[in-house]
Amino acid sequence: MVDVRAGDTVRSCPVDDCSWVHIERPVITPLGAFTPVLGYGVIAQHMQRIEAALRAHFDEHKVEDYLRTITRLQQLCRENGVEP
Ligand SMILES: [Zn+2]
Repeated sequence: MVDVRAGDTVRSCPVDDCSWVHIERPVITPLGAFTPVLGYGVIAQHMQRIEAALRAHFDEHKVEDYLRTITRLQQLCRENGVEP
């Protein structure tokens, strides 16, 4: 079960039949709240951790997984009269 708390950002994998999610907790600086100037280093580290987690998961999928999902979404668009 996914432990989602107020203020979290949840990112789901876009690949069909994959239930992986990445949960980001709110960034809190040593001063207790984010400020653009004081929190830049903390935010940069946070973003690097997120990118690393997403890349590590996305690398687990084969190209065929992405193609199958894209093909299904294109078909869904055509069925609903939407330009893919
Ligand atoms: Zn996935």
